[in-house]
Amino acid sequence: MSEIVRPPIVTILGHVDHGKTTLLDFIRKASVAAKEHGGITQHIGAYQVEIPRQARDDFAENRKITFIDTPGHAAFEKMRSRGANVADIAILVVAIDDGLMPQTVEAIKHIQGAKVPVIVAVNKTDLQGIDQKVQLAKIKKQLSDQKINLEEYGGDTPFLPLSAKTGEGVDKLLEMILLVSEMHELKGDPALPPAGVIIEATLDKFKGPIATILIRNGTLKKGDQIEVGEIKSKVRGMFDWSGKPVNSAGPSTPVEVLGLEAVPGVGAVLGEPAEVKEAEILQSLVEKLQQGNTKTLKVIIKADKQGSLEAIQASLEKFNTERKIVDYIATGTGDIGEENIKLASSVGAIVIGFNVKVAPTAQKMAENEHVLIRTYNIIYELLEDVEEVVNTLLEVGQLEEVLGKANIIAEFPHGKLEKIAGCRMIEGIIAKGQKIRVMREGVLLGETKLKSLKKVKEEVNKVEKGNDCGMLFDPPVDFAIGDVVESFRVI
Ligand code: GDP
Repeated sequence: MSEIVRPPIVTILGHVDHGKTTLLDFIRKASVAAKEHGGITQHIGAYQVEIPRQARDDFAENRKITFIDTPGHAAFEKMRSRGANVADIAILVVAIDDGLMPQTVEAIKHIQGAKVPVIVAVNKTDLQGIDQKVQLAKIKKQLSDQKINLEEYGGDTPFLPLSAKTGEGVDKLLEMILLVSEMHELKGDPALPPAGVIIEATLDKFKGPIATILIRNGTLKKGDQIEVGEIKSKVRGMFDWSGKPVNSAGPSTPVEVLGLEAVPGVGAVLGEPAEVKEAEILQSLVEKLQQGNTKTLKVIIKADKQGSLEAIQASLEKFNTERKIVDYIATGTGDIGEENIKLASSVGAIVIGFNVKVAPTAQKMAENEHVLIRTYNIIYELLEDVEEVVNTLLEVGQLEEVLGKANIIAEFPHGKLEKIAGCRMIEGIIAKGQKIRVMREGVLLGETKLKSLKKVKEEVNKVEKGNDCGMLFDPPVDFAIGDVVESFRVI
């Protein structure tokens, strides 16, 4: 592993005519490369610029920014392939004279749905004849109505007035993009096999299928055998955003690729398809949860620093507001090692790593023991994944908690049709009113409720571990000696 800081991938959203294209054009034309080459025409739906380092703010290791230039929210939405947002940062353009318009609100919904950090750029500040102060205050109010939390009110969303026409304030926007990207610690590893997303694709009469791939991680090389969605291909030629032939493309680089066997869909994934990976993870998680009694999502978290650990735990707490769903089995700093996998395997937990590596021996052990390891270097991606897992588990009703268990050790006839189960409590509490189920060798026989619960001869409301009792089920269940009664709740 040789991780490097990778350029942020930025997308610009906003209402029609608010200046998205003008802003993208201004930034491209002002870029160093464009100036050096006497203006470069953009070849594909994305470009990369390098921001000159300024003495006062040389904080950023990386000075490059990748802009995706695919206007319209449909494309943005399409590219939001599950689990893999294409953009790292969204710029929301709002014209100062119009304020928020329907498509601005729509864009905000997409941004919030994708959980990408956003920077608000209030455009057209060069316009004469408007009261800027009044308009800016109005836009701020409109934004907070849409739950955009601006920095000046204690939130984390920067708000920058600018003019895409004169360029005033655009340099501040670029610096802000670099700052936000620093905060999110965007990393990539050029040594890995390429992973990326198709942002545009067409069939050229002469060249055949052409696709623009935005490389998210790893390096794509000329001659590579690749698989995009279902399409297997060999990369015959690659061109950078200005049309220059290149032999390789690393993390955050957009490239045009020739040699595909068919035209892939926008949003198709190169490399390990996120969906497949996610489906496997869920499947294995659900199986793990089915084996356990307490239906919580057990996690072991390893992070680089105590501070990150605390931030992750604080964020995950949002799942535990009503009841405990995320259960921390262990947390700690440092790389993921064999001891973490051993523990995860014994309790049925998943291992989450943040800015840490997985020891090769641990990786091997995890494969053998079917333990899930997921590593992240962006907290919101981690949260998004966990949220998706939790939601899926809630949907399939796997998040349950077994409250009590009893073995059926005898049966007694009751009236003409019914029978009473003579039980010995082996775990927890069983009480009237709870959901009850009868299991035979782990398979559900029937779900029911308690009509009567007796300790010796006395009718009681609950029984505990160690008690013997008689249970009468309503509706009746055709149980047999050896079956298990469980009380449970769905959480
Ligand atoms: P888009 O639909 O969001 O891509 O908007 P455009 O970039 O096409 O801009 C729409 C119109 O607004 C064009 O006529 C631009 O010249 C104009 N425009 C864009 N930015 C500015 C600005 O900063 N100031 C002024 N005065 N006009 C602008």
